[in-house]
Amino acid sequence: MADNGKNFSVYNLGSFKELADKEIDGAKGRVMLGHLLGLTGCEISINSRKAGEAVPFVHHHKMNEEVYMILSGSGIFHIDGEEFPVGEGDMIRVAPAGMRSIKAVEPLVYACIQAHDGSLAQATMLDGVITKDKTSWM
Ligand code: ZN
Repeated sequence: MADNGKNFSVYNLGSFKELADKEIDGAKGRVMLGHLLGLTGCEISINSRKAGEAVPFVHHHKMNEEVYMILSGSGIFHIDGEEFPVGEGDMIRVAPAGMRSIKAVEPLVYACIQAHDGSLAQATMLDGVITKDKTSWM
């Protein structure tokens, strides 16, 4: 779905509650949206872990910072030997060198966004352009 000739792409994951048991692209409980949506500036994964499940390794990145967005449930986050509880609404930015892992305490759903560290040149208030186009509700 990388290039459909339109200015948008859509993919439906279904219920977050059912994601932990779902296998998409050979991975259980984890969906990489990059190729599904044709992302070009970041990678986003949506992850679901059952209570007690954990990422079975500690990792860091070569070039990408990551933002973990806890969407529901609770868990324990590990960065550079430090561990702390996380829950719905927590947003955690990890620099490329950060040695990280995560474990679910309760069923845990989180998004992880990867982008090249230092690549953001501008954001919404500077990048967005309001047009005269109208929607059906305007
Ligand atoms: Zn990572």
